[in-house]
Amino acid sequence: MSMVQKSETIWFDGKQVPWDEANVHVLTHALHYGVGVFEGIRAYRCADGSSAVFRLREHVQRLFSSAKILRMEIPFTEDAIFDAIVETLQRNRLAEGYIRPLSFVGAGAMGVYPGDNPVQTIIAVWPWGAYLGAEALEKGIRVKTSSFARHHVNAMMTKAKASGNYVNSVLAKMEAKADGYDEALMLDVSGFVSEATGENIFMVRNGVIKTTPLTSILDGITRNSLMTLARDLGYEVVEQQFTRDELYVADEAFFCGTAAEVTPIREVDRRVIGKGSAGPVTKHLQQEYFKAVKGDNPSYDHWLHRYAL
Ligand code: PMP
Repeated sequence: MSMVQKSETIWFDGKQVPWDEANVHVLTHALHYGVGVFEGIRAYRCADGSSAVFRLREHVQRLFSSAKILRMEIPFTEDAIFDAIVETLQRNRLAEGYIRPLSFVGAGAMGVYPGDNPVQTIIAVWPWGAYLGAEALEKGIRVKTSSFARHHVNAMMTKAKASGNYVNSVLAKMEAKADGYDEALMLDVSGFVSEATGENIFMVRNGVIKTTPLTSILDGITRNSLMTLARDLGYEVVEQQFTRDELYVADEAFFCGTAAEVTPIREVDRRVIGKGSAGPVTKHLQQEYFKAVKGDNPSYDHWLHRYAL
């Protein structure tokens, strides 16, 4: 069992608290009812030795959008959270790794109505390599369509990166792993391809890159970055619903997300995708993505927030 690698401190409501002391009460509302919103952000070490957070402004904005959807008021400004993230990276001397801000309804009243329970915020950072494994980035992963549908858009708020939404993801992930696969492919309630448990999906057929529209999915920042990169490279990119059988006959497919980066899919439901390895378009986009996040392409420097340690 791989454990999260401890850092020194966690930012907790404005203070840097030692990692082991960043605790909450067992009657924390969010623990019972799932009302919390979070982000997953990555910082990379650049070729010139500096460090940079990828699309930090957009991640902080999405945190606040998620909170708005859940009618949670984060008692800090976006700028304060932005600065706190950088401060936490610096305080922990983390040149490269993962950043997890989380705002949640704290302890106070019990029962579903959150009343005026405090909204608390933490920012944790830790070193984190390839989410699905280094080999996955190169060789691709095996995927199975989940027996669990992705949320109906009027049941859960899919544009919010809300803690409670992830019960659905955990169920799907556990099922896929128990059945010997790396990741679950989730369909929406109408049966169209939606996303994975923590990634968006792209497929490539006859040179056209296709990704699912923003209906039942999280509006992924990696998805958005890859659409921009692909279009800038001259590829045709469409946002269009597709079915699992369209995916079965794709030339290439890949998942993307802050944690998963660009992970090729080599098999879906025991059908080999393309040649069963990372396809040329996938490899090209993966390479360009890594160049952008690591400051190797000046055209995307505006996506980076560099910080000194
Ligand atoms: N969908 C879901 C359900 C996710 O949890 C994530 C990860 N945040 C994504 C898509 C990808 O989003 P991003 O590229 O912003 O990390």
